[in-house]
Amino acid sequence: MRRFSKSFTQQEPLSDASIDAAVALMRTGRLHRYNLVEGEKGETALFEQEFADALGVPFALACASGGYALQLALRACGLQHGDAVLCNAFTLSPVPGSIHAAGGEAVLVDILDDTTIDPDDLEAAARESGARFFVLSHMRGHIGDMDAVMAVCETHGITLIEDCAHTLGANFAGKPSGTFGKVGCYSTQTYKHLNSGEGGVLSSDDPEVMRRAVILSGSYMFYDRHLAAPEAAGYGDTRLVTPNMSGRMDDLRAAVLRPQLAELEARKERWNALYHRMDAGLSRMERFERVPRHEKEDFVGSSIQFRLPSLTREDIAGFVAGCAERGIPVKWFGQAQPADYTSRYDSWGYLPATRPLPNADRVLATLCDLRLPLTFDEKDCDDIIQLMDDAMNEVISKSNTV
Ligand SMILES: *Cc1c(COP(=O)(O)O)cnc(C)c1O
Repeated sequence: MRRFSKSFTQQEPLSDASIDAAVALMRTGRLHRYNLVEGEKGETALFEQEFADALGVPFALACASGGYALQLALRACGLQHGDAVLCNAFTLSPVPGSIHAAGGEAVLVDILDDTTIDPDDLEAAARESGARFFVLSHMRGHIGDMDAVMAVCETHGITLIEDCAHTLGANFAGKPSGTFGKVGCYSTQTYKHLNSGEGGVLSSDDPEVMRRAVILSGSYMFYDRHLAAPEAAGYGDTRLVTPNMSGRMDDLRAAVLRPQLAELEARKERWNALYHRMDAGLSRMERFERVPRHEKEDFVGSSIQFRLPSLTREDIAGFVAGCAERGIPVKWFGQAQPADYTSRYDSWGYLPATRPLPNADRVLATLCDLRLPLTFDEKDCDDIIQLMDDAMNEVISKSNTV
């Protein structure tokens, strides 16, 4: 049997610019972001400034992880213990996890067939719960109808926090993902759009929210060592009532991130070339239903999704197994037990009882996902499509599905 031999989890090596910056920093021994000498700005502070500039916002704060950025965002926006927090039913486990860690109670909202949030159910959930907070996950890089989402948030006075783990570099109607809400949260973990192993960033244009976030992240009193935060003199009483929840980024990670940030647009183009090649392949295959994208969305295609609505569960399982034999780790959000990043809301047993989510149940039951690392080229995409087609034909020839 023909097999695809490349790894879906292998990212590109870091560039010489990143490696040189890391080595130069290690030679100084000053890896802590606030450990600076006279006249030095520091890699983390510079990264934050460049990140904020790239998004066109005044403030950015780097921290320990994307999930940690979400926790900080909720706390900085004033979440109190036991507060309800709206959240998409289809998201990654660190999102409900960060709501839980910050003391909130997740209220899940149903999704549309394109996997994005259902604005009508958002409205219903807001009315039922009275929630004042909403963590909107642009899950797997799909941005839903932001006009409709913002209208619901405005009507109900909801503070929006965007989870942009898969949408750094993406826009909706020309506006960068992460700049619609009060806070945008990003991840620089290896499988996202910038790679520092682990890491997170949050962005905002609200000075008080950012002051709290800076203090929460563990800034001691080094507010003057930030280049993309409110001026140091303005921290006033905030510094006396906000806890230090230690979760800073270090200069080593920031040093490898700065050259990558400068390359983000070029990488986006390469990701989208892979995405469009895969998408064109899927469009030619029977039984593979592509996930539509909003016309105002300008995305980064670092992964691709498709649905298999005409197949039984047994046949989807057979297809996934056939793909695995061919070296293609198709992730299926409908499998009985969660594996890898495919956990579903019903596997987050610590959540309070969930609202009925009929559409999420139906959509996730047949939803599949593939990562598209930049170590692939368009020929690899063609091979993957061919092998998935083989796996599908094998399943169909053995099954009763017509
Ligand atoms: C990766 C991810 C996160 C969290 O990022 P970490 O840096 O791993 O904590 C949050 N939301 C989504 C949708 C993600 O994919």
